[in-house]
Amino acid sequence: MSSKNFNLAALAGDGIGSEVMREAIKVLRAIEKRFPLQFNITEAPVGWAGIDAAGKALPDTTLELCRKSDSILFGSVGLPDRDPTIPKEERPERAALLRLRKEFGLFANLRPVKLHKQLAHACPLNLDRQAGGIDILVVRELTGGMYFGQPKKTEEIVIADRQDGNLHPVLRAIDTMVYTTPEIERIAHVAFKAAQLRRKKVTSIDKANVLENGVLWRDVVTRVSKEYPDVTVEHMFVDNGAMQLMLKPTQFDVMLCENMFGDILSDEAAALAGSLGMLPSASLGATNGDQTFGFYEPAGGTAPDIAGKNLANPIAQILSVALMLRYSFGQNDAANAIDDAVSKAIASGLRTGDIFNPADPAAKKIGTREMGDAIAAGI
Ligand code: NAD
Repeated sequence: MSSKNFNLAALAGDGIGSEVMREAIKVLRAIEKRFPLQFNITEAPVGWAGIDAAGKALPDTTLELCRKSDSILFGSVGLPDRDPTIPKEERPERAALLRLRKEFGLFANLRPVKLHKQLAHACPLNLDRQAGGIDILVVRELTGGMYFGQPKKTEEIVIADRQDGNLHPVLRAIDTMVYTTPEIERIAHVAFKAAQLRRKKVTSIDKANVLENGVLWRDVVTRVSKEYPDVTVEHMFVDNGAMQLMLKPTQFDVMLCENMFGDILSDEAAALAGSLGMLPSASLGATNGDQTFGFYEPAGGTAPDIAGKNLANPIAQILSVALMLRYSFGQNDAANAIDDAVSKAIASGLRTGDIFNPADPAAKKIGTREMGDAIAAGI
């Protein structure tokens, strides 16, 4: 059988980036041995590594490489102790991350949160019976809503004092929440399609009892849901959603959220997994034929406190590869093989420091490289 070829840009970035990227590439090479898939992987500098190599957080050659690639595998960027004098807009978090999001029209952010039952100790909730069953995918709209709506400004206005009636200058800040039907339809399709690959349930989050945006969101999601009769849809107010995540997280499969609600709820859900080292993320752009351009990265940052010591958990980066295979390339078997290999490594007791429980007699503390080896061997 001839193999399918994919071009990938691998941008490891700063801190633990290169250590965890190395393990992710190791796992991709193991996938090539088992499946008829081939990955042409080109590595390029980004973040402080980009500034050191070419004077810019996102060097032109790195951007050009991304444009020619089918997807981007990204590590993390930013080192808080490096040169505080560099202007905000040139710092890696802005100049690289936000620039790439904009350049590739990444409108859908997917954050899976899975708590393996062997890692229940790392979950802040004391829900023994449920802990192993937490498996949520937060689908967040990434380019609209309150974060980008216009007008957005702080202005000086004059108001009358309630007591003496005199006029006083005060500052007024304005943010605008705005969504159009196509923006809601587009993200709703992503959520329903993702649910079809999972447990076939979408919980759409809104604030339809107070916000015009919430009413439109609910109407559009209801309409789109009719195209997915195999998926159950329910609607939940965001305040209740935040509460239910703490009370009964096992009830959720896919949570569909607008930008700000998704920002908040995805972090709340992330806490349930116990460690940033377990959390991958995907940001999706345009679909072309049977491929979707995507940007895949761990949810955590560069972890300067443990960088260069073989201590970082590579699982978030490795699971990002599984997301890429599933959501960009439609290779579900290969994606499942990675998920299974991660589960197997965890079930066999292997733990990096962030998920190690000294009270667990079956747990064995290992390093970044050893975890990558075990997962690659399990493919
Ligand atoms: P961080 O996520 O880097 O670290 C927070 C804590 O989580 C640390 O104790 C760290 O050791 C731990 N941690 C994170 N990933 C881990 C892993 N894979 N394995 C084990 N432990 C892990 O957050 P921070 O310290 O606030 O930020 C450090 C730098 O990273 C900052 O410059 C920040 O701007 C940047 N950052 C970048 C991204 C990104 O590139 N998308 C995201 C978040 C933060």
